[in-house]
Amino acid sequence: MQNDHETSAESRLAQACHFIDAATGGISPPLQLSTTYARDPNYEFIGSYSYSRSANPSWEVLERVCAELDGGADAKCFASGMAAVCAFFETVNAGEHVVAPRIMYHGSQDWLRRISEKRSIGLSLFDAGDIDNLRRAVKPGKTAVVWIESPVNPTWDVIDIALAAEIAHAAGAVLAVDATVASPVTTRALEFGADIVFHSATKYMNGHSDVVAGILVTAREDERWQEIKLVRTLTGGILGPHEAWLLLRGMRTLFLRFDRASQTALQLAQHFEAHPRLQQVLYPGLESHPGYEIARRQMTRGFGGMLSLLVKGGAEEAKRIAGNTRLFVRATSLGGVESLIEHRASVEGPHSQVPKNLLRLSIGIENCRDLLEDLEQSLETS
Ligand SMILES: *Cc1c(COP(=O)(O)O)cnc(C)c1O
Repeated sequence: MQNDHETSAESRLAQACHFIDAATGGISPPLQLSTTYARDPNYEFIGSYSYSRSANPSWEVLERVCAELDGGADAKCFASGMAAVCAFFETVNAGEHVVAPRIMYHGSQDWLRRISEKRSIGLSLFDAGDIDNLRRAVKPGKTAVVWIESPVNPTWDVIDIALAAEIAHAAGAVLAVDATVASPVTTRALEFGADIVFHSATKYMNGHSDVVAGILVTAREDERWQEIKLVRTLTGGILGPHEAWLLLRGMRTLFLRFDRASQTALQLAQHFEAHPRLQQVLYPGLESHPGYEIARRQMTRGFGGMLSLLVKGGAEEAKRIAGNTRLFVRATSLGGVESLIEHRASVEGPHSQVPKNLLRLSIGIENCRDLLEDLEQSLETS
């Protein structure tokens, strides 16, 4: 292809942005395991690398592809999603203030609580159901970062990214979006005004439940970005070459997997919405969902593969239903090719704000009818 702008994102991704190894013609990148790089007799580096914690070739194709996928200026990969989250929040100074949703990924919130206690960083949590709560939570001139997720895990409330960006910017803050659940297939958060996008690449990006990784993508290579890169080098939360290679391989099928999961999740959500054993089905693609209108605008290619069931009864009833599935695997995590079911409150522990009767489903790529019948039999026999 001569003109990249005419090629769709899914075609570009399938070919890792038309990657061809200059040295060999290989269409899959070589795996460079070296930790250190030699100098010539004049003591100049032979290539552009010195030591693998600072930079190494196994990240480069991956990071280029990630930057393009989200439409960013640059991307960096990390040892895990949480390593990326921690590196990002290292850029917040003592005395500054952070705003985040009350219900969000528990690990990120635990980290925020920790730095707010240990480093006198202010922290305000807002209820994501109403954007006015965010307006009230920001402190102009003091808030450095607004961190949001959309859809919010595990209620799948939808936050209007464009509005959140307006509010953050008016207060002098940057907007960072955890886009793990939406993935860049359906939401390119930078295009809605976000400054930084975060992905737990462990989930949809890799998609095969066999790599732990994190990605940050920036709209601009500004001072904060330089600091994030420095923090990665100094704290060493780097992705191993094997993991980087596997992640890029998994990403090539991201669109296929995500489209399939979205289609199946929508069908399951519609089918089970009125089920007598269920109080409610939470899925942003249902017209009954409070975030439906924003989701239609913001999730441009399907509503994703994540849904939650609020069962009639409490934790016992929910766990019994999860216990009786035969095809759904009882495990945490999301975004893999295999469908998972979990009782979220049990996973999050005693401080969990998640309803006790909530079952979280991550839809994979199995046959939709098989998944539907499995849930049907489990609801009937539990
Ligand atoms: C899994 C997850 C994370 C953390 O990522 P790890 O790769 O597990 O470190 C952060 N945010 C969301 C929404 C997640 O699902």
